[in-house]
Amino acid sequence: MRAITVIPGEPGSAELSDIPEPQLGPGELLVETVALGVCGTDREILAGVHGEAPEGRRRLVLGHELLGRVRDAAGGAGFEPGDLVAGIVRRPDPEPCACCARGEWDMCRNGRYTERGIKGRDGYGAELVALESEFAIPVAHELGELGVLTEPASVLAKAWEQIDRIRARACSAHERALITGAGPIGLLAGLIAGQHGHEVHVLDRAEAGIKPELVRDLRAEYHTGDVTEVSRALQPDVVVECTGVAELVAGAMRHTAPGAVVCLTGVGASRSLHVDVGSLNNELVLENDVVFGSVNANRRHFAQAAEALRAADPVWLRRLITRRVPIERWQDALRKGHDDIKTVVELFPAGD
Ligand code: BGC
Repeated sequence: MRAITVIPGEPGSAELSDIPEPQLGPGELLVETVALGVCGTDREILAGVHGEAPEGRRRLVLGHELLGRVRDAAGGAGFEPGDLVAGIVRRPDPEPCACCARGEWDMCRNGRYTERGIKGRDGYGAELVALESEFAIPVAHELGELGVLTEPASVLAKAWEQIDRIRARACSAHERALITGAGPIGLLAGLIAGQHGHEVHVLDRAEAGIKPELVRDLRAEYHTGDVTEVSRALQPDVVVECTGVAELVAGAMRHTAPGAVVCLTGVGASRSLHVDVGSLNNELVLENDVVFGSVNANRRHFAQAAEALRAADPVWLRRLITRRVPIERWQDALRKGHDDIKTVVELFPAGD
């Protein structure tokens, strides 16, 4: 069967390989890949700056944003052939740390976790995949292909769960959220912020195109320009930084409301900046601000994400998928186009 594989650390090594069909282990579902979402992490792996092959192997099957259809459910109680599922990305470390042992593998403390399609474990970019039933998340049938957004939405569900925990110490009910970046992560952050009842603002550099429209259709306000100017005017209670761009990361921490929470979700290239750490420190201390990083998601967050997608306007969600590419043209999918939000590789499209 066909699979997109790569030799981690070797730029240009990705190819469409012919690999054996999966042998099911106990408790595993055989899943046909309906659609595979592509994100910046996949592009980093292709560029050779991220990723790790399974132990003893050179090639890694790429892909961690799975929408699949169960073909054989013999190994998994609670699933039937034909069910749509999303796949959890991370697996706990083999000798579970305190967090992995509690199912909170997104908070793994020793770094020995694995991630499908990213770190030490084959991904979902193959025609058929074996999915451990305890790492399969049911996707509502009415969502169809939109279920491919479950994984990126899970990352935001986790981020918002953490934000809510930290915000519990603030005394205000009315919250203004600023999201930096209107890519798939920023837009899903905006969606979930709105669902949580926040006033939502999204900042991006795009002056025109689909991003401003998508933000306005969330009943949120779209901004362009300098993040510090936008923050100064808005004084946000919550900032979700979704770009990993150094200037935005540094700017996102300034001019927030007292007791603000700044959640960093992006990673970016190394870059030196001149930052007045003294006045940044004073602002954080004197206003009880919190800046924290958030990555990955556990089962609870995937379930929250599936629910957030189900509650969203499907017409709006569908507009996030700006390109659908058949597996034969996988290379096109991994190239980032100017107006792309989410690109998906289609293998066994929904409805076939
Ligand atoms: C994935 C996360 C993963 C992270 C780091 C992201 O693209 O969505 O699940 O933990 O990459 O590997």
